[in-house]
Amino acid sequence: MSDILVIGASHSGVAVAAALRGAKYDGSIMLVTEENVLPYHRPPLSKEALSKDDYTLTPLRPETFYASNRIDLIQAVKIVALNLAESYALSEDGSRFPYGRLILACGAEPRRLPKSVDADGVAHTLRTHDDLTGLKARLAGAKSVAIIGGGLIGMEIAAMALAKGRDVTVIEAGSRLMERTVSKSIANYVLDRHLNQGLHVRFGAAVTTVVRDGGRGIDLVTLSDGEQIEADIVVVAIGAAPHENLARDAGLEVNNGILVSEIGRSSHPAVYAVGDCSAWYDPVLGRHVRNEAVNPGQDQAKIVAAAITGASPPPKRLPRYWSHQAAIQIQMSGEVNGADMEAVLNAPASGAFSVLGFKRDRLVAVQTINAPQQFGKLHEMIGMDRDALAAALDVEFPPPHHH
Ligand SMILES: Cc1cc2nc3c(=O)[nH]c(=O)nc-3n(C[C@H](O)[C@H](O)[C@H](O)COP(=O)(O)OP(=O)(O)OC[C@H]3O[C@@H](n4cnc5c(N)ncnc54)[C@H](O)[C@@H]3O)c2cc1C
Repeated sequence: MSDILVIGASHSGVAVAAALRGAKYDGSIMLVTEENVLPYHRPPLSKEALSKDDYTLTPLRPETFYASNRIDLIQAVKIVALNLAESYALSEDGSRFPYGRLILACGAEPRRLPKSVDADGVAHTLRTHDDLTGLKARLAGAKSVAIIGGGLIGMEIAAMALAKGRDVTVIEAGSRLMERTVSKSIANYVLDRHLNQGLHVRFGAAVTTVVRDGGRGIDLVTLSDGEQIEADIVVVAIGAAPHENLARDAGLEVNNGILVSEIGRSSHPAVYAVGDCSAWYDPVLGRHVRNEAVNPGQDQAKIVAAAITGASPPPKRLPRYWSHQAAIQIQMSGEVNGADMEAVLNAPASGAFSVLGFKRDRLVAVQTINAPQQFGKLHEMIGMDRDALAAALDVEFPPPHHH
């Protein structure tokens, strides 16, 4: 019996165990995970892991961390059911994992193309170490790459493949890149940089089929307008869906994520959820919000640890995101698509600049390109009034550029 059982040992699960020990929690902690490698950093999988031939996974914590913090790490075990009435989780091989409190940190999985589009599962997805191994093996011999989805991960893979001299086509259903995560101005800037490297893009493109032409050793992506794109490898990066089945089947409330309160508690008082699998109630917005990024999960882990140990909760932080696309490093926070006016700090031509998004003269979003220090400073200023911000930064904003 563990006082605390955590399902999923990736960024959020490991962070919650570490935060509990950091908050002097003394009970037993068990982390159970399906993957069979020491918990590792996921973001590099679409970045340096693809560009470096000899990349080895970066562990989240050294192997000794777990034993020295009395965290029982159980790998290669898949939990298939939860029994909330009797407080245990059941693994695939029938073992029971009884608990005092349960923390779900089971993350998300990549969305796949429907069977009607990709019947044979030709398109690769990228989420895990195993996915990386398969993708790299195919990329090594490929001359051309088709990427379905122009979001952050798709563009990171595209940037890496371009830098390695591949012929890259990105197929995007929307009218621009990275629509959910960056503003139009940043998306356009990044697109220009990639176009200069030779990227091909199709916007407003619906994929009707993906098939392998075994005879010619090539994959074919057909679009709804009849165009056929040939590629040695096809990657699909169209977002991720939360792992919520365990929770749903056990009767917990879910709706695009396991629904939890402001302190991470689910509809059952002994069960919490953190990270990509969870949707947290935001009292300001009056609805649940699910984030898919490392920093928010780590912040949530600290909140849950405080709730469990009775410590005072850490100060609230806005989610922060980043993306590295070859030489372009993007960082963003706030309502990137909620601004009614943008101002640019430093000239884009310098290759390092920040875009400030204002809504009714209040700073609501910060996005930086290759300016990590500026990001750190500006992120803390979100919420400030435009004039106060100009004074604090000792700048004059150029005339407002209203959308
Ligand atoms: C290619 C890629 C690039 C990314 N780049 C960035 C980036 O630059 N910046 C950023 O902030 N975020 C990035 N992200 C997102 C970031 O990786 C996730 O937000 C983060 O991994 C979420 O952590 P998590 O612990 O909540 O979930 P996950 O990392 O998804 O981990 C969940 C773990 O739970 C395990 N699990 C699930 N179900 C079960 C079960 N039933 N039994 C046992 N184990 C189970 C899974 O195997 C997995 O190991 C990227 C993601 C990907 C895939």
